[in-house]
Amino acid sequence: MKAPDLPNRFLARQQKLRSVLEKHGIQSLVVSNLTNVYYLTGFRGSAGLFALGTGGAALFVDPRYTLQAHEQAQGVEVHEHRGRLLQGAGKWLEGGRARRVGYDDHYLTCAGFRELEAALPKRCALRPVGGLVEELRVVKDPTEVGYIREAARLTSTVFEEVAERLRPGLRESDLAAEIEYRLRKQGAEGVAFETIVASGPRSAFPHARPSSKLLKKNELVIFDLGAIISGYAADMTRTVFLGRPDQRVKRLYNAVLDAQRHATARIVAGRRAGAIDAAARRELARRGLGRYFTHSTGHGVGLDIHERPRLAKGERTPLPAGCVVTVEPGVYLEGLGGIRIEDTVLVNEGGSEVLTSAPKDDWIIS
Ligand code: ZN
Ligand code: ZN
Repeated sequence: MKAPDLPNRFLARQQKLRSVLEKHGIQSLVVSNLTNVYYLTGFRGSAGLFALGTGGAALFVDPRYTLQAHEQAQGVEVHEHRGRLLQGAGKWLEGGRARRVGYDDHYLTCAGFRELEAALPKRCALRPVGGLVEELRVVKDPTEVGYIREAARLTSTVFEEVAERLRPGLRESDLAAEIEYRLRKQGAEGVAFETIVASGPRSAFPHARPSSKLLKKNELVIFDLGAIISGYAADMTRTVFLGRPDQRVKRLYNAVLDAQRHATARIVAGRRAGAIDAAARRELARRGLGRYFTHSTGHGVGLDIHERPRLAKGERTPLPAGCVVTVEPGVYLEGLGGIRIEDTVLVNEGGSEVLTSAPKDDWIIS
């Protein structure tokens, strides 16, 4: 889908990329990762290659995608290429004056590297610059925030709809299917990851896959879900209890909720990512639950479900305004089950905004 309101969004990203590359002494770049190709051009086909040359930028596609590329891509010349796209890009870059050509060593295969090297003129040296585009992607522009906001709203709405119908006897896998159906039906283009519905002792696996297990009375149930809107993901986890929880379960739930709230309250642009993780960890440790919190507190969300920054122990990166992260502390007790609460949160100059609004206080479903 084209964004008619901001036609130069992609061009602005390309210009930013060019100035970052120039600081590394690199004049040209080849981008093969399709998520990054989308980010830089708006093209969403399943095959395509972006190249930044000394005189401009180009998108290489095979004939299946020519029309789509002309319709979606902005700020690039579209080149239809029959044959290997890397060879097309290499030949195109030959006409420029670049001496150093960057490539994404996180994604380009060894075979792709050799192919590109063979297609480029002898004067060009290839330089690994993996992660540069991902670095630009950390701070979201207003359009991107809008997509994530919509994905988060949809995720929350669908969870609330499904939570209203929860009762013992429902199957985990049926609930997961119901969630994904409703997300799509209400406008998501897909789900950001396989929806997690895990009940009873199975909820103690942080990344359990939904099984044929039926929900039982007096069990914890973890839901982890996320919609995608225009390529952008949301990520939310809620834990509920079916029946009457005992004091121990109540204490555990409140501890995780406190940890989640404390950590969220610490979020503000400029604060180190590790400080948010420390806030969640401190809250759980205070109640003797530190060792049951076995993963990091959160991660960036955007075009990928897990991207930078990481909200983890010792992370010194300051959070920039406009980045979107999750806050998701959890405790997992073998035999009893797990409790995790996760929100997608926008980092602002003055604090933060929680984008996933489904309630966390009415977790007891009796
Ligand atoms: Zn999640
Ligand atoms: Zn997450």
